[in-house]
Amino acid sequence: MYLYRLNSTLNSFLLVTVLFLFSSCRNSQEHKNLSQTLPEIDKKNAFALIEEIVAIGPRPSHSQNAAHTANYIARKCEEFGYQPKLDTWIEKTADGTKTFRNVYTEVNGNGDKFIILGSHYDTKMIPSVPDFAGANDSGSSTALVLEIMRVLNKSPWTGPTIRFAFFDGEEAIHSYTDNDGLHGSKKMAKDLKESGEYLNCKAMILLDMIGDADLTITLSPDDSNSLIQHVLRIAEQQNRRDYFSFFLHGVIIDDHVPFKLIGIPALNIIDFKYGPNNSYWHTSLDTIDKLSPDSLEIVGNIVLQLLFEL
Ligand SMILES: [Zn+2]
Repeated sequence: MYLYRLNSTLNSFLLVTVLFLFSSCRNSQEHKNLSQTLPEIDKKNAFALIEEIVAIGPRPSHSQNAAHTANYIARKCEEFGYQPKLDTWIEKTADGTKTFRNVYTEVNGNGDKFIILGSHYDTKMIPSVPDFAGANDSGSSTALVLEIMRVLNKSPWTGPTIRFAFFDGEEAIHSYTDNDGLHGSKKMAKDLKESGEYLNCKAMILLDMIGDADLTITLSPDDSNSLIQHVLRIAEQQNRRDYFSFFLHGVIIDDHVPFKLIGIPALNIIDFKYGPNNSYWHTSLDTIDKLSPDSLEIVGNIVLQLLFEL
């Protein structure tokens, strides 16, 4: 994940736009019949999944550990009653030719449209931190998508079809360019575009860095306004609105961007305030002791409701 700084004029414009949309869109959307009792996140189980992912070790793309992680995710999918698909491909990158692996699977629901819920699973290659744990980035979101899948498959699902996507190659080696970073999400978006399936994709929801014990979700004003309104409304209903704020210091480049570029409404649910001045991000301090099962529960239950209502 990367931050692109905006100039202050654009910042003010975005802030004004967001405030306007807040005042005009509230309650404008029809709610679905919420007769299904939604399952709830088991925060202990979600946290145990992070422990297992972190135990694999650093998992930069093209490493043996990245392959192990892809296999681990596929095994968990099977354990939770899903049929995983492994998409493996080779790409020329800014850092040489590399093998990447996306894992994805689906739960069938109502209608002919689908939603993507995604997380990356690779970790940033940081030469000065050879044992980089990546507990929050990307252990937390990978674990939470798996836990959402687990609870969602315990009873018949009456929401929309959901594709659960685990992306490789989110992290850039040098800086985000056409051949550096977002490899997995770019590949999936390209395939959806080529097959025409993107026309049936209603929304892309991305989770990233959502395990911080000091949870502060920083939504991007440049993401889909209707998805922003929707997630905030649910947060309010669940008395969790205080955990949400806006990131007004620039544009966040993350795995939702390739989907936005092909016209799919997208939302990045990310906590980009990780430690004092974001100092735990991409450092040796991104360890599991900074995370809390409660944060996984808060975000997970909001996302479950969002998936159901979309
Ligand atoms: Zn990262």
